[in-house]
Amino acid sequence: MRLGAVADDVTGACDLAGRVAEAGLPASVLLGTPAADAAESAAVDAFPANGSGCAVVALTVRTAPVAQAVAESTAAARFLVAAGATQLYQKYCSTFDSTASGNIGPIADALASVIGAAATVGTPATPAAGRAQYQGVLFVDGVPLAESPMRDHPLTPMRDSNLARVLAPQTPAPVGLVRWEDVRLGPDAVAARVRDGHTLVDALSEDDLDVIAGAILRLAAEGPVLAGGGAGVATALARAEVRESGAVRTDDTALPPVPVTGRLILAGSASAATRGQLAAFGGERHILDPRSLGRDPRALDRIRDALTVREDPRAPVVVHASADVAAAQRELGADRAAALLDEAFGDLAAFAVHELGYSHLLVAGGETSGAVTRRLGIRRLQVGAQAAPGVPWAVADSRDDTGSLSRIAVLLKSGNFGGPGLFTDAWEVAP
Ligand code: ADP
Repeated sequence: MRLGAVADDVTGACDLAGRVAEAGLPASVLLGTPAADAAESAAVDAFPANGSGCAVVALTVRTAPVAQAVAESTAAARFLVAAGATQLYQKYCSTFDSTASGNIGPIADALASVIGAAATVGTPATPAAGRAQYQGVLFVDGVPLAESPMRDHPLTPMRDSNLARVLAPQTPAPVGLVRWEDVRLGPDAVAARVRDGHTLVDALSEDDLDVIAGAILRLAAEGPVLAGGGAGVATALARAEVRESGAVRTDDTALPPVPVTGRLILAGSASAATRGQLAAFGGERHILDPRSLGRDPRALDRIRDALTVREDPRAPVVVHASADVAAAQRELGADRAAALLDEAFGDLAAFAVHELGYSHLLVAGGETSGAVTRRLGIRRLQVGAQAAPGVPWAVADSRDDTGSLSRIAVLLKSGNFGGPGLFTDAWEVAP
């Protein structure tokens, strides 16, 4: 199997690639669809020359305007198909982050049409990350989605836990549900209940995901089907492939070492897990408040100065967004506040890596990771060991404004992921 995934954000792409690699399928993440002049060589490198693998194109379209999200996702899918993907996968967030206008539904419609699939099948459920779907309702760590901290996400507040109801207004295609009682009957029963349009399947455990993967493989043997969801179903597809073909973790996924010359944590996420990690972190920290960024051009310079003075390059330094999201959004508007933060995090990353030679970067937050990797000119992540489930380290080449390359280790973390000690412990398994 050559699993080609289109991910709507960068940390989601890493989540999928990290879990799939751990299941035994070599994985890489491309940051954006390669430009026309680079597409041919990127297509050759996308999958291992002989055998199975996974290539993920990471986009930043979770909250982009619908037309842009659809156009970019379509281009990514076409690239993956041309590179030899045998199964296309739509990766969205395990907390189904979206609004009434999209973008999960419009992207599903677009990707299905690229491969001529009448049906899409999947689930955001990723039990290993505490996400389960039952009777169409998504639970986050045992709490219905709309009662979880996702209720107050700055960009995609989730106020309904019933996924069929969330998805229906996003697409003209019918939205169906396969209930857990049918999942218990096995892959044939699930496959038999899939109708044209979008089918969301309940899953409470890894075994349930294996059943869904089995159903997808049966359907795919009959004709094209778009698989989709969180990282869970993709991992189950990888497990099925490893069982089938014996693909194993290879040197492709053992990363070259990166000598430690500076460790920087950039946290733009306001999610509960990131707040816990910040609270547990005992080292040096600096706060970025979008309100002062808007008012005081020296606010960023002060943090730059602090990053320049480093006594111990092994001691991680944190720069994080201020906690009072509501106040900043009231004063600046959500978009302007996020744009100021994105730009500031990108500038600090470029300054730390290109001017100061920092070697290791941990970024918390999907949007934030997109902004930082773009600013660093990173095109491809070679994915290795996970510091926590869904949070793999990667090695990448960062390109400065003159085109010269610096090899760095990067960990891009979805805001919701990782235990409280991550900002202190993650370095132990870093390349
Ligand atoms: P997550 O992975 O937790 O969703 P993201 O980086 O994707 O994290 O999204 C968090 C968003 O919230 C970012 O766009 C960030 O700029 C915004 N944000 C974080 N802190 C603040 C704040 N204090 N004021 C306004 N917006 C904020």
